[in-house]
Formats: sequence, C-alpha cells, structure tokens
Amino acid sequence: MTEDLGTPVLDNHLHLDPRHGRGIEAVEEFVRLGGTHLLVVNKPSWLLGVEPDEPADFRAVFEETLETVAAATEALPGRAWPVLGVHPGLISRLVDERDFSPTEARDLMRGGLEVASEYVADGDALALKSGRPHYDVTDAVWEASNAVTRRAFELGAEVDCAVQLHTEATEDLTDLAAVAEEAGLDPSRVVKHYAAGELAGVTPSVMSDKDRLERAAEAVEPFLMETDFVDDPDRPGMVLGPKTVPRRVRWLLEEGYDEAVRRAHVETPRDVYGIDTEATLERSES
Ligand SMILES: [Zn+2]
Repeated sequence: MTEDLGTPVLDNHLHLDPRHGRGIEAVEEFVRLGGTHLLVVNKPSWLLGVEPDEPADFRAVFEETLETVAAATEALPGRAWPVLGVHPGLISRLVDERDFSPTEARDLMRGGLEVASEYVADGDALALKSGRPHYDVTDAVWEASNAVTRRAFELGAEVDCAVQLHTEATEDLTDLAAVAEEAGLDPSRVVKHYAAGELAGVTPSVMSDKDRLERAAEAVEPFLMETDFVDDPDRPGMVLGPKTVPRRVRWLLEEGYDEAVRRAHVETPRDVYGIDTEATLERSES
C-alpha cells in the first residue's frame, strides 16, 4: 500500500549505498510513505574505498552514484537526480593522514569538482556539492576549504547549476553568498544542507525535524527538506531515516502548511535546480 500525499515529495539530500547499506530498499520505504523524488549525493570518497591521488580518481565515486540513481529512479513514481562533489572533510584526511599540504589538498579537491562539473555539463548530474569543515581546523585548512568552495561556485556558474554546501552550523552564510555572487553564481542557487529553519544568504535545505520545519514554514522564504540519510550500516541512527520527509510532509499538511509544502517540493526545486517535480511525476489516475 503506497500513500498518495497529493503532492510531489522531494528529499533534497541523502546518500544511497547499495554495496554496503540498504540501497534501493530505503528508496522503496520512502515511496511507500508517499515520497516521489530524491537528490542523491555521492558518499564521501573514503566510505566507498577511494583514496584519491589525482582528480580522475573521483570518477569511480561519481560513476557508482550515477548507477545508484538510475536504480532509484526505477523505484520512484518521480525520479532521482545525482549531486556530485567532494566532501569537505576529505581535506583533513589528506592533510592529517596522507601528508598532503593544505594547498595540495585544495588542488586535488578542486580537480575533483572539475571532474564532477563535467557530468553536469553532459547532463548526467544535476548539481555540485562542496563546502568547508564543520569542525575546528587550522587557518591554512580553512583558507584552502574556502578556495575549494569558491571553485565550486565558479564551476556552478560555468555549467549553470546549483551548488549544495556542507558547512559549519550557522544561520548566516552571507559571507559565502558574497563569494558566490563574485563567482557569477546566484546565491539563491547555493543550498546549505543540514540547515536550521531559517538561513541568511543562501537557500536552506532544512533537516526534517518538526521544530526546524515549523520555522521554515512560518518564515515564508524558499526552503527544501532533507534527511541526510547516510545509508551506512556502521552508523545507524546517525541521521534521519528515509521515511522522514514523507512523514513530515503529511504532518505539515495536517497542520495546514499546504503553501509551505508547495514551496519546498515544487517551487524551490524549480527555482534552485530548474527541475519540475510535477511534470516528472507519474501517478496512476484514480
Ligand atoms: Zn550528506
């Protein structure tokens, strides 16, 4: 029995790992509760066993993600899209464990983003993923991370796509909005994943707990909803499960936030990514 919530339901940021985790079974669970569309972000390279020495080494990570997205699309009444990039935490692994200097790490990560942008240019991926560590780092690592993020914005402007960011917990990213603007990328097409209910500067992808969602709904600003489901058997319960977005959409509708549901699942996805979650939805007519 599949629920029909009468609206597209998009989880804007999750990971799927058929090789180690629940994979398509998690997608089926999402669908059963009324979920329709997914933005699938590649797992951090090291969790897929890739320790890159050169930018081309990221291709294995990206290719595996594209395969997973194709399988997810088969299972969805709507579809899935890939978001490809380099996890900002990689810089610490390179610098602390593999003797890269911060500038060498920066160059490798920028190169990985350039490879990711080729997939976007070819129409095989929807958006890029970048950002900076959410934990304390040295000034050199912080600067290198900001330089990587700037490169992601430049590439987003070049290939005309949105950029999802992983950053420190904050409700003010006007500094990165200014960097995006300088790089030629509209800051509204920069999306902070794991966001609170409100965010200055860029578009929030709100973690789907009720308090955050209520704030986002009341704020009458563009927002997206996500779980950051990691699909990692070693980290169960780290984040929200795949059922969460459809469940919270049902709750928002019950609370009378129909307009906010439309904002998060139709209008903001259209404005940020240029995707149409209604036209890409096939429902059996009843
Ligand atoms: Zn994530």
